[in-house]
Amino acid sequence: NFVAASRVARIKISPSTAAAARARELKAAGKDIVDMTVGEPDFDTPENVKAAAHAAIDRGETKYTAVNGTPALRKAIIGDFQRRLSLQYADNEICVGGGAKQILFLALMASVENGAEVIVPAPYWVSYPDMVIANDGKPVIVECPQEQGFKLTPEALEKAITPKTLWLILNAPSNPTGAAYTRQELEALGEVLLRHPHVFILSDDIYDQVWFRDEPMTTLVAAVPALKDRVLLTNGVSKSYAMTGWRIGYAAGPAPLIAAINKLQSQMSSCPSSVSQAAAAYALSADQTFVHDSVKVYKDRRDYACARLNAIPGLSCQVPDGAFYLFPNCAGVMGRTTPEGRVIETDLDFVLYLLDGVGVAALQGAAYGLSPYFRLSIATSLEAIRQACDRIESAVRALR
Ligand code: PLP
Repeated sequence: NFVAASRVARIKISPSTAAAARARELKAAGKDIVDMTVGEPDFDTPENVKAAAHAAIDRGETKYTAVNGTPALRKAIIGDFQRRLSLQYADNEICVGGGAKQILFLALMASVENGAEVIVPAPYWVSYPDMVIANDGKPVIVECPQEQGFKLTPEALEKAITPKTLWLILNAPSNPTGAAYTRQELEALGEVLLRHPHVFILSDDIYDQVWFRDEPMTTLVAAVPALKDRVLLTNGVSKSYAMTGWRIGYAAGPAPLIAAINKLQSQMSSCPSSVSQAAAAYALSADQTFVHDSVKVYKDRRDYACARLNAIPGLSCQVPDGAFYLFPNCAGVMGRTTPEGRVIETDLDFVLYLLDGVGVAALQGAAYGLSPYFRLSIATSLEAIRQACDRIESAVRALR
């Protein structure tokens, strides 16, 4: 009988994937479900990007590429970091993989061993702790309460650092809260990090173009250039260009780390899809109208959904700076009783009540390391968001 290796036994299947599958199952069984679990844009990949992929196929770009990506894609990535963040990277400081997820996993695989500690601010993207555990590391979860805007403070960071700390993971705008750091906040975190030169920083900026504030988005390495040889900046085309299925992510960082990631990549997948790389290179360097237009749509949805949720007694929602998720607080419904006589004691109880009671699929805050909250995706039509808000409102009003 097959027995999985301990690294598999130690981790779990992504709860967001599992919840999305459950919503799909219920829908297939004929239940009327408004699915608010989706972690990908509801827009189609832009037509001009698809055309670039067709053209690449016609040119015969259908073979293995260099392990670290095609020269065209590396050039487009370097150009994008330069244009948007004024960051300069050399060719040997760039790697490309099958999604930012693969790059993050490879970065940890390339560096973590023997229980090395990785600081993960909570609420966190569900995959970070398991990726650390799968690579023999120890996630050190630091709770970042709503009173601090769900953000890591310099004091909390200082307290979490030990001689065994290898990485700090920062993700802004964040999945699940949409919170992002100001330049001043990044500088304050930078001060702490400069005092601890053994700590590397994984800056997961996958949502950085889904940005709602007036001031431009910034990132740790731009705010604190002295950290440049310790920051791995990861990004990808999935979220900004509605290209989740194309599976292209990338990173910029210190050359020795990039070389280690590429060495693993050479044995793992050789390279990401050549056609997808051509499409991604085009997306990053062509006209950016799609990005700007989609952000306007997300912002309208955010404003509508936040206003609706904040008008429901018992719920409250911090307004996200970016990304396409809301993370409303549901402390006000804890201890209340459903029409069926069940007491809601946890955020999992609440999301199950929403699913069974009114057909809204959401994710419990516990999966993201902070309770009592729930995550709603707004990467869905305004009509679906309106229905979800109506249903959540009636569900909460029905509680005793
Ligand atoms: N990082 C965060 C915070 C995410 O939410 C996601 C996707 O859900 C990813 C990384 C991975 O993106 P991809 O692998 O599609 O590039």
